[in-house]
Amino acid sequence: MLKYNTLKYFFWGISVAAILYFFYVQKIYPIFYLSIALVWLIYVIVGAFRMRAEIFLPSVSSLPHASKNTILITFDDGPHPEITPQILTILRQAHAKAIFFCIGKNMDRYPDIVKQIVAEGHLIANHSYNHSNFIGTYSTEKVKAEILQTEETIIKLVGSSLKLYRPPFGVTNPNIARAVSALNMKVVGWNRRSFDTVSKTKEEVLKRITPDLKKGDIVLFHDTNALTPAILTDFLLFASNKGFIFEVSSPFEI
Ligand SMILES: [Zn+2]
Repeated sequence: MLKYNTLKYFFWGISVAAILYFFYVQKIYPIFYLSIALVWLIYVIVGAFRMRAEIFLPSVSSLPHASKNTILITFDDGPHPEITPQILTILRQAHAKAIFFCIGKNMDRYPDIVKQIVAEGHLIANHSYNHSNFIGTYSTEKVKAEILQTEETIIKLVGSSLKLYRPPFGVTNPNIARAVSALNMKVVGWNRRSFDTVSKTKEEVLKRITPDLKKGDIVLFHDTNALTPAILTDFLLFASNKGFIFEVSSPFEI
């Protein structure tokens, strides 16, 4: 997909050319300008909500070149005082490792769970401090503050950070891109979204994430959702029967 930083000049160019044409050559129907604006709007909206398109920033959404037959399991939004410990038990029983993209304020609230996650061999990564619904409207400085505050919490509790960031809701835009780049964070997305938080049954979720499972797929779950432990149990059984393993290291080192 074409990068925002390249395409914005192209759109500016077309707009300026159209204005000059209007004044110096002949009138242009308003529909022409509306069409340009509409195409631009669609492009920006797709870029904002589809991180995998990498319109605003580079990100990893799958690891097809992984050396082993690995599926990368990821959990967002925790730690949660009840669900996360259940998830940890299930992972332990299945000899599976995962990355937990934690919300900073939840880590400050449940530091012992963060330490338990790490003690069991999983990785902790950054999912902003407050996970605000409005983070897509934040200035670059405000996004930086969200990421930095969470990095400080990770270093305080874990001792070091992998500098991995997953934007809340997977939303990206130029401000988020600038913040991520200024702080040297690496962005991790997914290519299998379970929609576990909005699904009514585990069967619904499994039907969504199990077909055509491939090496290097990155699966997104939430360790804040009551249904997720049951989903995870069945998913791990299904995937291990297919020969997949669940190891972790930074996705950028696989
Ligand atoms: Zn989230």
